[in-house]
Amino acid sequence: MKPKKMIPYGRQEITQTDIDAVTEVLQSDFLTQGPRVPKFELELSQYCGSNHAVAANSATSALHIACLALDIGHGDLVWTSAITFVASSNCALYCGADVDFVDIDPLTYNMCPLALEKKLSIASKSGKLPKVLIPVHLCGQSCDMEEIHKLSLEYGFKIIEDASHAIGAKFKDSKVGKCDFSDITVFSFHPVKIITTAEGGIAVTNNPSLDNKMRLFRSHGITGNESDFHLRPSEEVWNYQQIDLGFNYRMTDIQAALGLSQITRVDEFVTKRNTLAKKYNDSLVNLPLQLPKIDSKSYSSFHLYVIRVCPHKTNKTHKEVYNSLYTAQIMANLHYIPVYLHPYYEKLGFKRGQCPNAEKYYSEAISIPLYPGLSDKEQDYIIKTIRDIFE
Ligand SMILES: *Cc1c(COP(=O)(O)O)cnc(C)c1O
Repeated sequence: MKPKKMIPYGRQEITQTDIDAVTEVLQSDFLTQGPRVPKFELELSQYCGSNHAVAANSATSALHIACLALDIGHGDLVWTSAITFVASSNCALYCGADVDFVDIDPLTYNMCPLALEKKLSIASKSGKLPKVLIPVHLCGQSCDMEEIHKLSLEYGFKIIEDASHAIGAKFKDSKVGKCDFSDITVFSFHPVKIITTAEGGIAVTNNPSLDNKMRLFRSHGITGNESDFHLRPSEEVWNYQQIDLGFNYRMTDIQAALGLSQITRVDEFVTKRNTLAKKYNDSLVNLPLQLPKIDSKSYSSFHLYVIRVCPHKTNKTHKEVYNSLYTAQIMANLHYIPVYLHPYYEKLGFKRGQCPNAEKYYSEAISIPLYPGLSDKEQDYIIKTIRDIFE
């Protein structure tokens, strides 16, 4: 039966414990810059197995300070995946750098290591190698970080993992965020992601100097560490100095309290998402669809469940499927338009045809609802609706 309310593609899970944690902050001494942000940073880095974590007001801000900490500026080149949210690329533009895009693997939809290797080999001949690469763990599945890391040693670039979709995911039995194969990893806590702080993000690293720099850029470029102070006559030395140009990208204690409460349930959320994904896999199998392929080295956090409508098996387009779902009160979505096809990027000179696998994916993909609170009844209804579209 058609539901009264639209079923979204993703949504947060909020319990009374979450609400109590947030209201407790509202009655406390500190709404921001209190004890909960550092506690959340500690819990999160312990969860991932990294040494440091810098919380920010969004993953977009975290990506920006990650680029700044790696010294990205005018004249530098940053590469990311063609299929991602625009923030993975905009963060480099904020720093004045130029960006370029690597094509995806047609099965995992992540940055393709072979395409990357080919592009690097061409770029090295023309002296246009990237300073930083931002691989994106699309839908919650880690990229092949071992391969990407090998290439970084050969070609000398740094790595920021955009793991906005992937808290709770694993690559070769290590949690994403351990930074075994990267300099910095960034997570998002937007409500559609795995856990939420409303708006919020975090950058984790094992490198104390990057940690220090990201803290500086998060808060105006102001430091309270005397060892970082610039030399001044002693009567001019107070307990802080601005030593670089930073931003106000701080997370509040209200957000961190929600994050602290949510992180206790991250594994539960990811397990539930995998259970729901398995049911989709089993129930949508003999339709003219390409279903998600999880590499044997990966455990996905299943932020998104993407189906591709195969043009050689049906004359229905993904737009038609999207519209039929919409009529049935199911809000699907498209993740994502190739970044370089957005009008802003076209103005920068990017052209259609650059990443054929990404463009083919874009013409076929839709994300169907997947979140821990999706009921069996709702999922059965979604499955039946999709089957009816093709039968
Ligand atoms: C959501 C998302 C971001 C940005 O996250 P915010 O916390 O909303 O700033 C960046 N990259 C990817 C891949 C995302 O999905």
